[in-house]
Amino acid sequence: MQNNVFDYIRGFGLDFDLATGLSNATATHKRYLSDMRGMYADDSAFDEILKTNDPVVYEFHEMGTPEHAGDLAFGCSITYPGKVADEYFMTKGHFHTILDTAETYLCLSGHGYMLMENPEGDWSGQEFLPGRMVYVPKRYAHRSINIDLKEPLVTFFVFRADAGHDYGTIETKGYRKLLVECDGQPTFIDNPKWK
Ligand code: MN
Repeated sequence: MQNNVFDYIRGFGLDFDLATGLSNATATHKRYLSDMRGMYADDSAFDEILKTNDPVVYEFHEMGTPEHAGDLAFGCSITYPGKVADEYFMTKGHFHTILDTAETYLCLSGHGYMLMENPEGDWSGQEFLPGRMVYVPKRYAHRSINIDLKEPLVTFFVFRADAGHDYGTIETKGYRKLLVECDGQPTFIDNPKWK
């Protein structure tokens, strides 16, 4: 017997497409380039793209899991290929509102990095390849970055359902590091806008 798709009490299953990260069971939230003003280093290159086009930079699921400590939130995050000047398309990234909560991301397809940093300034970049999981420790902000210029980066994430998202801190301060293409290679550099 088929359960309700989202039966958080008795359990449920749903399908994700491993190549696209999408699911027939639920829609995604889309973030367009115009939603990310100020987050890329090169504002004039950003404005130049928007004159002719406002691409979807990434989309992700929000399943509506009950926001309780014992529940899990999960879904796919899909970051599309592209660059603003030499900076790869990326997600906004966030801290968790409950800072002491970790998260796992399993790469289903594509090639990219997870950029992480904590409030004290420690940072790291972990590579995403299909089948490779990244553990984001508690207290670390995290942002997915797609370094493949043809294929989307698709990851499946799971975290504590009541963790919450703090986007504001990152929108105000930025990340300490950027991932840019330098001589054809992804290279972490200092963010000139970081404050
Ligand atoms: Mn998170």
